[in-house]
Amino acid sequence: MPEWKCNKCGYTLKADNPPEKCPMCKEKCEFLDVSCYIPECGKTGIDPRLR
Ligand SMILES: [Zn+2]
Repeated sequence: MPEWKCNKCGYTLKADNPPEKCPMCKEKCEFLDVSCYIPECGKTGIDPRLR
């Protein structure tokens, strides 16, 4: 299951699809797929927007 991170508050959650509104900041945030932070992912790609 992918993991999503709010680009405003950094809240993360696991879901098939990112929520429309962030439960933390209660705003319509952009959720970024951060699944590939974990080594088990096997990919080397990390979303450059999170650096
Ligand atoms: Zn948020």
